[in-house]
Amino acid sequence: MGATMFVDGAWVPARGGATQRVLSPYDGATVGEAAKGDREDARAAIDAARRAFDAGPWPRLAPRARAEVFLKAARLLSERAGAIAELESRNQGKTIKQAADADIPFAIDNLVFYAGACRTLDAKSPGEFTGDGTTIFRREPVGVVASITPWNYPFMMAVWKIGPALAVGNTVVLKPASWTPLTTLELARAFHDAGLLPGALNVVTGPGEVVGDELTRNPKVDLVSLTGDTATGRRVMEAASHTVKRVQLELGGKAPFLVFADADLAAAVEGAIVGGYVNGGQDCTAATRLIVHESVRERFLERLLERAATIRTGDPLRRTTDLGPLVHPTHQRRVLEFIDKGVDEGAKVELGGKAGVGPTAASAFVVPTVLSGVAPDMVVAQQEIFGPVLDVLEFHDFDEAVAIANGVDYGLAGSVWTRDVRTAIRAANALRFGDVWVNDHLPLGSETPHGGMKQSGFGKDLGTDSLADYTIVKNVYIDLTGQARKAWHYTTYGDPA
Ligand code: NAD
Repeated sequence: MGATMFVDGAWVPARGGATQRVLSPYDGATVGEAAKGDREDARAAIDAARRAFDAGPWPRLAPRARAEVFLKAARLLSERAGAIAELESRNQGKTIKQAADADIPFAIDNLVFYAGACRTLDAKSPGEFTGDGTTIFRREPVGVVASITPWNYPFMMAVWKIGPALAVGNTVVLKPASWTPLTTLELARAFHDAGLLPGALNVVTGPGEVVGDELTRNPKVDLVSLTGDTATGRRVMEAASHTVKRVQLELGGKAPFLVFADADLAAAVEGAIVGGYVNGGQDCTAATRLIVHESVRERFLERLLERAATIRTGDPLRRTTDLGPLVHPTHQRRVLEFIDKGVDEGAKVELGGKAGVGPTAASAFVVPTVLSGVAPDMVVAQQEIFGPVLDVLEFHDFDEAVAIANGVDYGLAGSVWTRDVRTAIRAANALRFGDVWVNDHLPLGSETPHGGMKQSGFGKDLGTDSLADYTIVKNVYIDLTGQARKAWHYTTYGDPA
């Protein structure tokens, strides 16, 4: 099929003919080729989505009919899940066990959830709120949605963006991250094979500053939804402001992981390992700041180092590998620079702190790293590193724990480790983060609203709240009096009857 994008129900090359090699971060080998779209390609896709929304059947289908397409796409994706997981692992560097047993099946379940959830959208009961007429509240799709996704969970993030948007009747132009476009095209293929109508979903591959920028500026787009870095979120918001588009932003995170003195330390250490090193730490909810009570800090750190040293790094396609390479050598360099900055600021490297060895010079490994002696105001405790780097901080009392946890610009996710229910609830209430876990870190279900506070953005992926983000409530008023001159008209002109 060559390097093609999906526009208006057809697989097309970039208009300018440009292509881009898609690489494996394990060994630098070519995994595939993608079309390198430009502004013209983005405009063609936006025009297709606009036509499909304004005059096409998709927004006008009964929810049941849209749900049928979703369920068929989910079935096709289940049949193809093995191949998609392998492609995701090769392109992104994540382990095959995570792709095959977590990301892909979870994303398919998300689609099944949206299929059902879109059928539960109801209007409020109409009523005679003025006394003279009936008001009906209708929940309608927003229009043309531009979805822009990151490279850390390419397939799953694409599902989180297009799922709720399409299910409620919007039409979508989706732009995947340039390093990881391949499984997003497979998602589009499944929807196409499931009978999705032309123009309802379009996928344009290409650079963020070109294709993404067009999507955020083009006046025919009604809503821009981005999952990405907070700096990108600011740019998208600014660009979208020119045409007053709605924006939905799922941005960066710097999750606190609060370990109180009474915590089950064995459980907390297991939680820190999986919560911190998940997806190589390239996870917006990753437990990057381990904030531990001073009385248990030493025991916690000792055990953490023991466990972290046993993490199996290597070929992501092996079932026995726990940690693959990072997504790209450019990102690997960025993570290593952060570690150097931490050391310059006085943090101590307890483990790792360097590039890992891979099969070629293009391998993007970073050894699982633990930094101790991290102070709350250090760069490594404030900024998102997005790599396998755990910071260990300490606190003296409850108030200080909460102050350190909340003392970042981000507000996406965090967790609390304690055996005391009062401590758990007081801390969970005090944390200004959109997801708070108690005695675990990471679990989400299709029903769970997920989204941030502060500079982690706003809006929700997952859950029925996500459907609300992609709909607008319209009120329709119907006069019941039948009178030419209504009782209230004198307030504008004339006298009361
Ligand atoms: P990124 O911001 O670099 O890129 C995200 C997407 O935006 C890409 O498709 C990119 O091409 C596009 N883009 C870049 N510049 C653009 C512009 N000027 N206009 C429009 N689009 C543009 O992010 P990334 O490095 O791919 O992903 C990692 C980031 O995503 C991290 O910050 C992470 O925390 C965040 N993330 C957040 C969540 C969440 O749910 N909050 C989930 C996953 C990832």
